[in-house]
Amino acid sequence: MKIAEIVSVGTELLLGQIVDTHAPTMARLLAECGIGCQRRSTVGDNWDRLVGTLRDALSRSDVVITIGGLGPTADDLTRDAIAEALGDKLIREPEAAARLERFFTGRGLPFSESNLRQADRPESAEFIANPNGTAPGLLCRKGGKVVIALPGPRGEFDPMAFGPVKTVLQTLSGGQVIHSRILRVCGLGESHVEKVLGAIMDRTQPTVAPYAHVGEVHLRLTASADDMATADQLIDPVEGEIRAILGDHVYGTDATTLEAAVLQELRSRNLTVATAESMSGGGLAERLTSVPGASETFVGGVVVYSGQAKQSLLGLSSEAVSDPVSEEVARALAEAVRHKLGATFGVAVTGNAGPTADRGGKPVGLVYVAVAGPAETRVSESSFRGTREDVRRRASQTALTMLRGQAVRPAKP
Ligand code: ATP
Ligand code: MG
Repeated sequence: MKIAEIVSVGTELLLGQIVDTHAPTMARLLAECGIGCQRRSTVGDNWDRLVGTLRDALSRSDVVITIGGLGPTADDLTRDAIAEALGDKLIREPEAAARLERFFTGRGLPFSESNLRQADRPESAEFIANPNGTAPGLLCRKGGKVVIALPGPRGEFDPMAFGPVKTVLQTLSGGQVIHSRILRVCGLGESHVEKVLGAIMDRTQPTVAPYAHVGEVHLRLTASADDMATADQLIDPVEGEIRAILGDHVYGTDATTLEAAVLQELRSRNLTVATAESMSGGGLAERLTSVPGASETFVGGVVVYSGQAKQSLLGLSSEAVSDPVSEEVARALAEAVRHKLGATFGVAVTGNAGPTADRGGKPVGLVYVAVAGPAETRVSESSFRGTREDVRRRASQTALTMLRGQAVRPAKP
């Protein structure tokens, strides 16, 4: 497999004044073209550091891709630095120079010597046409190495990357692909997943890598192969092995969200859900209703923040709401909303999202989630860390995970 690295050029990137969005775009393109991206670096508009970075990159990678610094101004050093790192002279292309001059005079713009720098190329380079700007890209081949230079402005970078550069990359890799599939896991922690999968984590075709997200774990399975279908064939059996171990904790693949997976499980069983939310403030209902077609399954929900709201909307007694962050309140809210809205399941969330301990002295991050179903009501108690937003997100994540558990593994009525 060919190895590539990306060098983003620009002091404004190092200062944090602009965000490097092109490098991730290029990284995805490399994977799609079957070229392994093993490093990314960012370097300012400084001659010595830029040349040094390019020399290092050339010493260890087959393909080096630079982004930015191809313009006409004094701080645009990439073209000259590539020539220096390759040991090339710069050649001025008369045809390109004439084209530039026509471009400027045709628009009534002042034309200066500095603009002509964009007609220069390292000896071993050919130009990559830039129909959207004045600075052409560069494709250099020397000593078995390839250097590709792209301009920074989005309107120039994107068409060049997805057009001629993609074609070059596909040719370089001989049509290989690097293809990933994500398996999404809920209800288990990252270290537990890693432990039970054991030697599967050491696979190489596909590689298996875990990523911890809020309240869920993603497993990325990546294979490199001659084409997409072959990559899928390598991934399929390993996905099967993982599913056999993790069971229905695997809730979906790729872009499937937990809320979409939950609604799908409920819909396929003709089940419905209603919500009663205190600390999550409607966040759970928001997640459920973000899924197209939610109305077949989500009956409705209430945000009952105060004790009075819990009493008047859901009929809880004043004693029942005296301790708002409690297992009892969560249970009573879930059962009441299930009953009031006539849903198969009632889900309730209560807790203290912080940042300070609440009036009842309950610690920050203490959360109760209840799911009331036809056969039983299950309640969980959790202590979450993080910001107010983190705690609220984890609370709705727990609610969705528990709801899914009740739908997939129902208690005997
Ligand atoms: P120009 O001819 O405009 O000078 P250039 O190839 O020299 O083009 P830069 O000067 O490095 O490119 O960047 C021009 C603009 O392109 C930046 O101000 C920024 O808006 C955008 N840009 C550059 N690099 C990146 C990047 N890595 N990610 C996102 N945007 C970028
Ligand atoms: Mg520039």
